[in-house]
Amino acid sequence: MIVVMRSGTPEIEISRVSKELSTWGLTAEKIVGKHQVVIGLVGDTAQYDPLQIQEFSPWIEQVLRVGQPFKRVSREYRHGEASDVVVSTPNGLVHFSEHHPVVLVAGPCSVENEAMIVETAQRVKAAGAQFLRGGAFKPRTSPYAFQGHGESALGLLAAAREATGLGIITEVMDAADLEKVAAIADVVQVGARNMQNFSLLKRVGAQDKPVLLKRGMSATIEDWLMAAEYILAAGNPNVILCERGIRTFDRQYARNTLDLAAIPVLRSLTHLPIMVDPSHGTGRAEYVPAMAMAAIAAGTDSLMIEVHPNPAKALSDGPQSLTPGQFDELTQQLAVVGKAVGRWAQIPTTA
Ligand code: PEP
Ligand code: MN
Repeated sequence: MIVVMRSGTPEIEISRVSKELSTWGLTAEKIVGKHQVVIGLVGDTAQYDPLQIQEFSPWIEQVLRVGQPFKRVSREYRHGEASDVVVSTPNGLVHFSEHHPVVLVAGPCSVENEAMIVETAQRVKAAGAQFLRGGAFKPRTSPYAFQGHGESALGLLAAAREATGLGIITEVMDAADLEKVAAIADVVQVGARNMQNFSLLKRVGAQDKPVLLKRGMSATIEDWLMAAEYILAAGNPNVILCERGIRTFDRQYARNTLDLAAIPVLRSLTHLPIMVDPSHGTGRAEYVPAMAMAAIAAGTDSLMIEVHPNPAKALSDGPQSLTPGQFDELTQQLAVVGKAVGRWAQIPTTA
């Protein structure tokens, strides 16, 4: 349920209404919007009549039920207003939001060594990326495949940030590593395979770094939003949802089926920002540009693209990785679509 306060409601009245609702056994959360304050109510709201609450105060404009099973992540919970996940990077604040330019996240699947991660960071920065991605802890289907360099790779990501000022996005696979990962990452990634690892979701929800929640490969949109709800319920409102392709029946030509329809669907259901990963979504470098452009046209707030200095030699996901040169070319194509939909930022000219 949400309680929409009239604009200009005195702070003391908002606190009074919130306190009163807390005594009813409900959790009352103050959500400050651009024009209004909304009090979000979570708990057993079914037993209360909105009209009963409406009588609390003449400053209450409306009391509305949230019809969805997910509450805090629902669009209704913020009375229709999009949330803005603001990430602080050495190069400045970056906004993931439908009201800001598309954010580009690029980098290798895995951090392999210092030279490659720093070089990739420099190249993707010059092409317009604001974030470097790179896995230190890699979820691999085979236990015999390269598992990532672990903690030492976190240090290499820190070196790449030092060299470029890019923000860092890297995955946490195990709650035991969360503190170390969060110490380096500007955004902590929860991968597709862990999307419903509820104990991990609670842990990332209880720390302060923004979380990138990738869609599980067999997750419905509702499963995914309920997973995000765990993170918000644990206290972290800064979640970005990443569509990275789902399993359908044909894996012969594309690794996954990139669900671009998820973009408008999420937009209507949730206030959280959206990212699309066409690299894992297709599994093939040659299909990445078309899907990246389509994702921008469909309204994504950000893109995650795998880039490797030598894809043929990559320790993971080489076939879907662009070279830095291909990424640079792609950003020029993306700029055309991004400008057409009013979502493109001026690329800084300094490398
Ligand atoms: C990745 O981003 O490298 C990754 C493993 O992604 P996903 O969890 O979407 O498979
Ligand atoms: Mn990968």
